[in-house]
Amino acid sequence: MKKIQMVDLPGQYKHIKETVDASIQEVLNSAAYINGPYVKEFQADLEKYLDVKHVIPCANGTDALQIAMMGLGLTQGDEVITADFTFAATVEVIALLKLTPVLVDVEADTFNMDIEALKKAITPKTKAIVPVHLFGQCANMEAVMDVAKAHNLHVIEDTAQAIGADYTFKDGTTKKAGTIGNVGTTSFFPSKNLGCYGDGGAIFTNDDDLAHTLRGVVNHGMYRRYYHDVVGVNSRLDSIQAAVLKTKLPLLDSYCDARRKAAEFYSAAFASNSNISTPVISNFSTHVFHQYTLQITNGKRDELHQHLLDNNIPNAIYYPVPLHAQKAYTDARYNEDDFTVTNQLIDTVISLPMNTELDIEQLEFITKTILEFVG
Ligand SMILES: *Cc1c(COP(=O)(O)O)cnc(C)c1O
Repeated sequence: MKKIQMVDLPGQYKHIKETVDASIQEVLNSAAYINGPYVKEFQADLEKYLDVKHVIPCANGTDALQIAMMGLGLTQGDEVITADFTFAATVEVIALLKLTPVLVDVEADTFNMDIEALKKAITPKTKAIVPVHLFGQCANMEAVMDVAKAHNLHVIEDTAQAIGADYTFKDGTTKKAGTIGNVGTTSFFPSKNLGCYGDGGAIFTNDDDLAHTLRGVVNHGMYRRYYHDVVGVNSRLDSIQAAVLKTKLPLLDSYCDARRKAAEFYSAAFASNSNISTPVISNFSTHVFHQYTLQITNGKRDELHQHLLDNNIPNAIYYPVPLHAQKAYTDARYNEDDFTVTNQLIDTVISLPMNTELDIEQLEFITKTILEFVG
């Protein structure tokens, strides 16, 4: 059996080595390292794939969130609501910009922002909502947009884990994850579903004025060279990463399918085990399985984690500490009773190996090892 990897980047690279190497070589030959032709080409390809008017490439997914918030003109003291159960990048940029993060609980089945908790958290100072499409499926965007509309709030979709997912509205229309709110952000970190070979990120919007503002913010606040109209940052997708991404974007749907197949194998194997809850797929979003995350409900999650490691099966706890309990983000306003789901998830979740290269032999070994242990 091949050694099992949480994320198998070398295995994936093998299949595209020739094309990707050639495109990187082209950048080296041209020496157009910054804002070279590949950046524009990838931008256009991604606009087409997402069916969105504007893609603004940037240096990473954390910058994308920060730039989106800067572009929307959020200012000190504005409250921004986001999920308690996610990676810290979202809350980090809110705090960095001296906005006020307001964390809310998530749903026990989808791990995404709980709409009732969102409604409860709104105050006259609330200016924006940041739903995070966690582990690869969209938050309940139709409900989020309804809340945003009722209170005149901006919506920034953190799509770092769900690029390629499709959202279906009640009227049957579909949109790509990240193109529903005022602005969407993503990351091309190597292990993401569309990963480059270093850092990268992008911002999406259908709003022409916002797109114009964002293009200046990423470029030192310049709209005319050496005239700085707003405070900006330096955040670029470099040409080598754009070359990698242009090669990989046409494969994104097949990558998502490969992940979905592995997820289906896992879920079928665990279906009848009462100590294991498999991922729930909501009826309004496809799931692109950035992570495949189980809940172990018999109190043996930590033992399972160790048992799998002992059997050379990598696995991870995403996330071990809720954001509201992180030292950097504690706040006297928070009440533990408002985070019952997150507080439970941190003790039950475990993410299994998930990548585009898993084969049946590996999947059988992983599921057998888990089922033997959990009983
Ligand atoms: C990875 C990730 C980010 C940050 O992306 P970077 O490119 O690493 O800065 C932000 N939000 C979520 C939900 C992520 O998973």
